[in-house]
Amino acid sequence: MLQNTDTIAAIATAQGHGGIGVVRVSGPAAATLASAVLGRLPEPRRAIFSSFRDKNRETIDQGIALYFPSPNSFTGEDVLELQGHGGPAVLQLLLLRCLELGARLAEPGEFTQRAFLNDKIDLAQAESVADLIAATTAEAARGAMRSLQGGFSAEIHALLDHLVRLRMLVEAMMDFPEEEIDAADSNLCNSMLQKISIKLRQILAMAKQGSLLREGAHVALIGRPNAGKSSLLNRLSGEDVALVSNVPGTTRDVIREAIQIRGIPLHILDTAGLRESNDEIENMGMARTHQIVSKADLILLLIDSAKGCTAEDEKIISGLPASIPYLLVFNKSDLLQDGIERDMQGIHISAKSGEGIDDLRDEMLKLIGWHPQDGGTFIARERHLSALNATLSHVDRAFAVLQNAELLGEELRLAQRALGSITGKFTSDDLLGEIFSHFCIGK
Ligand code: GDP
Repeated sequence: MLQNTDTIAAIATAQGHGGIGVVRVSGPAAATLASAVLGRLPEPRRAIFSSFRDKNRETIDQGIALYFPSPNSFTGEDVLELQGHGGPAVLQLLLLRCLELGARLAEPGEFTQRAFLNDKIDLAQAESVADLIAATTAEAARGAMRSLQGGFSAEIHALLDHLVRLRMLVEAMMDFPEEEIDAADSNLCNSMLQKISIKLRQILAMAKQGSLLREGAHVALIGRPNAGKSSLLNRLSGEDVALVSNVPGTTRDVIREAIQIRGIPLHILDTAGLRESNDEIENMGMARTHQIVSKADLILLLIDSAKGCTAEDEKIISGLPASIPYLLVFNKSDLLQDGIERDMQGIHISAKSGEGIDDLRDEMLKLIGWHPQDGGTFIARERHLSALNATLSHVDRAFAVLQNAELLGEELRLAQRALGSITGKFTSDDLLGEIFSHFCIGK
């Protein structure tokens, strides 16, 4: 176990006023610090009610204290938790007392970083701690918890085992370089590599879902003025966020609204109405619209059903980037007379009455590539996707050099390295610093 000589302390609960506030301490001085603040060292893992005292033995606060001796703690070090009242001033006093007793203020994510360095959790699990805290939807929180419990890491470890076994076989072949690789060995390598490749692609597909759950998707909402973009946005978000008016062209700026559909975070980009215009300000808005559309994962083109798909709408459609999926959404279905055949391709909705909105939600999820999975999705990050893609490219190259043990060995080594970076087996200090700096203090 890696021993830190310094002891860290931080307020672990969120800023502001709350019923309970927690100061957490980790490191070799935790026990002496506990004795000084509490007057005694609590029994391991037993909650005690105690006064928390300053250096003049005056009571700062009263609350629950818990002591977790190494290695059975979150960080793997001696940990003390002081649970007092959740006021900023009282917590600050308690923290200052800990600093006075030799602890230093923890860096962001330092408790979790110590848990990682002491092998309590791997890097993917450490990241999921931050993802759990940052989760904005229930589905994302569940996904983060699945990763924290090691579900994602277990898949990576199983694949690493397969890679290591294949590497051992290839290394053994390299011990006899003068001999030709015989057909049996070559077939065995090939079938082992096939299995690795299939499993890797499955994990990549899973991680893509996990990344969608974490990052969400960007949806551009476009359409001519008065098609009902603001009304639809309000309907999807459930609150009044955009200005609704009868005067064409009043929604001039981009409104970003974070919503969720069945637990998937979506960032809705509302844009100025798309149309030819002499109005300078509106033209600026339209230039931005085109800029925003190019960054979206999905485009919703809203069309007023009463007017139908006009020549202007056709012009907008023909101007959309070919690489981004789009959906034609015919709004104001409530204005259509019963019996009128809805022969236009697309989704028919009424932002006003809510008709068709559930179908729209389903279709949006489908188009951004969300497939709900049995047993739930693990949360994943862009970093994991790029590591998996790098692994895949080395595995693909390995197929091409199956007859050359040395080149094959090298590709497999690089594949293992890329894959291992997910759980932190091969991770540079710079990357670790970058990952943990995004945590909150006290975590
Ligand atoms: P935007 O310019 O595209 O943002 O359009 P708005 O959301 O401001 O809507 C323009 C007008 O159409 C407003 O008067 C809305 O109340 C009305 N509207 C929007 N959606 C519907 C709908 O589904 N049915 C009906 N009848 N009116 C709608």
